[in-house]
Amino acid sequence: MAPPSSSSYDPVQVSTLQPGELNRMRDEALAAIDAAADLDALAGVRTAFVAGRSAPLVLAQRELGALAPQARADAGRRHNEAKRAVQSAYDARLVVLTGQRDARMLVEDAVDVTLPTGRAPVGARHPLTTLSERICDVFLAMGYEVAEGPEVEHDWFNFEALNFPPDHPARTVHDTLYVEPRGSGLLLRTHTSPVQIRAMLERPLPVYVVCPGRTYRADTLDATHSPVFGQVEGLAVDEGITMAHLRGTLDAFAGAMFGAGLHTRLRPSFFPFTEPSAEIDVQCFNCRGDRDRWPCRVCSSEGWIEWGGCGMVNPAVLRACGIDPARYTGFAFGMGLERTAMTRHDISDIREFVEGDVRFTEAFGVEG
Ligand SMILES: [Zn+2]
Repeated sequence: MAPPSSSSYDPVQVSTLQPGELNRMRDEALAAIDAAADLDALAGVRTAFVAGRSAPLVLAQRELGALAPQARADAGRRHNEAKRAVQSAYDARLVVLTGQRDARMLVEDAVDVTLPTGRAPVGARHPLTTLSERICDVFLAMGYEVAEGPEVEHDWFNFEALNFPPDHPARTVHDTLYVEPRGSGLLLRTHTSPVQIRAMLERPLPVYVVCPGRTYRADTLDATHSPVFGQVEGLAVDEGITMAHLRGTLDAFAGAMFGAGLHTRLRPSFFPFTEPSAEIDVQCFNCRGDRDRWPCRVCSSEGWIEWGGCGMVNPAVLRACGIDPARYTGFAFGMGLERTAMTRHDISDIREFVEGDVRFTEAFGVEG
């Protein structure tokens, strides 16, 4: 008589535990494991053939309980062998595919140090900024202070205190940009000279200041003119200041800007705020005035390059600032920053400074 447990005996289901069937399931699983080309495929094989709830070997295991004890022991052993074979094949394949994946990642993720970087360019400081700072450094080393003033200035500081009376013809040379409302006396400063006035009014004597800054005139932008341009101005007011001090200072400045040993030359000129006044030329740094090296492109074979203006501070200006011209004298000079930079770096078009093309500014590096 059959045991009670065999009452649910189902020959179709239990046939999965027959040796031939277990071998077939094992071989099917081994073939699938062997065919798995990567870890993703192997994960699918694991679900389908090794450990998934519907894997044939897993389903077959459930049938063991339906067998008689002796048959169950035999079937269990065969099932275990098949399962172990599949599991160890799976484990071995997993090691192989993981190794392949890691090796591939090492190659794919390798850093090629010769590739161009995606970093944004650092950019460069504007050459007029660095030049202005360099000029200030030259004068700070000589004991000067840096002075600054507003770009929207009052007529009194820009003209009147500098000895340009309201109907003075020199005012028309400046092509002034006035600020509304009309009659307010406000304008965009046409030169950095109003900073001299402010320095003399605000500071105790003696005064030694260098004043860099932006200035404005109603000019049209072309290769040699710009409605906005930089100037740098120097002022020294002390007892006993003479033109010899001015000459020495300009020579030191020229040497620092264009090369040691270069001299300056003064040509008589006129400015309302200085008396006497002079145009400043600097010796050509290329040919140094040596005719044997002419033709010279830098100075057009003149030997000298126009640089700026200067003079002894007009006593009327000193008086306007409450300084006694019988006791104090002073000198002042000023030049364009663009002109200085163009001469230093052989730049022929002033528009380069305002067009914002980084290919231009990059050439000057990223000076700190
Ligand atoms: Zn020259």
